[in-house]
Amino acid sequence: MKKNERLKKLLKVHCAQCGTCCSDPIATVTHHDLRRLVKHTGKPARNLVKLYTCSDFIDQDEIEEDLIYLSYGKRIMGLRKLDERCIFLSKDRQCTVYEARPILCRTYPLELTITEENKLDEINIRDIILDKSVSCKYTYGKQKPLKKILNYAVQDVIETDSFERKLTKWNKRAEKGGKNEFLAFLGFKE
Ligand code: SF4
Ligand code: SF4
Repeated sequence: MKKNERLKKLLKVHCAQCGTCCSDPIATVTHHDLRRLVKHTGKPARNLVKLYTCSDFIDQDEIEEDLIYLSYGKRIMGLRKLDERCIFLSKDRQCTVYEARPILCRTYPLELTITEENKLDEINIRDIILDKSVSCKYTYGKQKPLKKILNYAVQDVIETDSFERKLTKWNKRAEKGGKNEFLAFLGFKE
């Protein structure tokens, strides 16, 4: 398929809101995502996230840069779950924090990479979906404006870089601490 046709086709991919990816895999978040969720829900950060072990993740390759070194081992920050589902997924499979949902959730099931000039480099359906680790029931619909999802990709790069710089600082500290200390380090005091 020609490059332009492929791009147009991928821009027509729509989430069918089956809720599967809101159960597995775990939605990892940065402190920027978490700040928006705390503001939106009015709940303390510690109630919204869990620090997961590596074995909780389907795809072990993608988590290396997100590792947080705590006094009791390495963890990765992701949205909490209840009965194996994201705490924000309603019974009728709606995202109850849609306006404040993490960046990762905004482009799913697509994955974009961008150039240093913030231009589109690559766009794909996520590997985890192509290799059928997650049974995604995406559909095709109206073509989305490239600019909109490109903006999410740019925001993702900025916020992920900023989170990774925080993690590097935290991981270099002699005093490690646990979840509460880590969240306080990120600026979440309660
Ligand atoms: S925040 Fe919303 S879209 Fe993201 S995993 Fe949770 S329920 Fe799904
Ligand atoms: S698995 Fe696919 S169709 Fe289902 S909620 Fe996730 S992105 Fe949407």
